[in-house]
Amino acid sequence: MKLDELVHKLKRHPHTRFPFVTQYVNAHWTEEFRKKQTVLFFKNQWNDTIDRIRNGGAPNDVVRSLEDDRARIEERLRDAMRGTIDSEYKGLAFFACSGGGFFQVFGSHVEFEDQIVVDRRPHLKQLARLADEYEAVMLIMIDSSRARVYELKLAGVDDYFSMTDDVPGRHKVGGWSQMRFQRHVQDHRDRHHKAVARAVVKLFDSRNMKNVVIAGQNDVIAEFARFLPRRVLDKVFATINLDMIEPEETVIMKVLEHLHEHERATESRGVRQAVEQAAIGGRGAVGLLATLRAVNERLVQVLYLSERFAREGGRCPNCRLLSARPGQCPYCSDELVTVELGEAMVDAVIEAGGEINMVEENDELGSFEGVAAATRSEKRAPSARAG
Ligand SMILES: [Zn+2]
Repeated sequence: MKLDELVHKLKRHPHTRFPFVTQYVNAHWTEEFRKKQTVLFFKNQWNDTIDRIRNGGAPNDVVRSLEDDRARIEERLRDAMRGTIDSEYKGLAFFACSGGGFFQVFGSHVEFEDQIVVDRRPHLKQLARLADEYEAVMLIMIDSSRARVYELKLAGVDDYFSMTDDVPGRHKVGGWSQMRFQRHVQDHRDRHHKAVARAVVKLFDSRNMKNVVIAGQNDVIAEFARFLPRRVLDKVFATINLDMIEPEETVIMKVLEHLHEHERATESRGVRQAVEQAAIGGRGAVGLLATLRAVNERLVQVLYLSERFAREGGRCPNCRLLSARPGQCPYCSDELVTVELGEAMVDAVIEAGGEINMVEENDELGSFEGVAAATRSEKRAPSARAG
């Protein structure tokens, strides 16, 4: 299942009275003993979770729903450890609510952090980080007679096509015919590049691709690029100099590295803009209080959240208002429930149709408590007075 489809499906899943389990697993077991560590970690987490729910007076069918989820996840995880399934992934995410008839597994090419959350809703923070950093990339590997075009997502290589055009090789031909032969070869190369470009544009338009990488020898890339329209060239964020004979894995890793750098630069620009907008009372909020207010008003378009952000706060169990302080909801007078505000903001923003940008290293964001947002419409009061 594709990442965006999964997020969509999770958002649409109706709430039931049964708890929803989110389990992220680091499945990059470099040594055999790491598998045992994983098993032990989750065994303890599950025991604690089920004890807590049972001791909290939950009805039998609620406990049974959790036990079923646990059994199903453990079985799938055992298969993954044996390598019979999902062995290509470094991260596995499970979303389960057997009482509500929901079970989904998602495999990622980057690691997740081991985590279990049992709540009314799925916890999407680690998933959102993926969606944010590695949304579909179109990778074009090209030389003068062959091409392979991939649509890469961390969920795996979704689609790809390859083309081989019949370009004459370089035979030893002497005299004037040598020149004619060269021209002949060049014609073939141009035709090949043109054909690949046509196929690329078709895929690009139909998938609404936002990132393109071209890999090949520099002179070939230059020749090929002449056949690409502006709208595609604008989305090329990296070209990689390499041979088509390099293994797919190597190339994909290189592309992901480039994408990572590209993402960091885009993030910095986004944070900068939010700060500038907040300073003039425009479409931005910085710092915890102002951002919380924008989240509560469902105004957040993009949430910029430091990966290191971790802070407890409160959420109203009734209207889901988020607050930096414990106490009562100012609207419903319900007692606020303690939550980790990073997770809570991510879930609220996704639910309100906003995007998440998990920021790795950014001093500017750090100076605003690690949180900022680009907001949808002009706020009524400057953010300095928020909270
Ligand atoms: Zn409330």
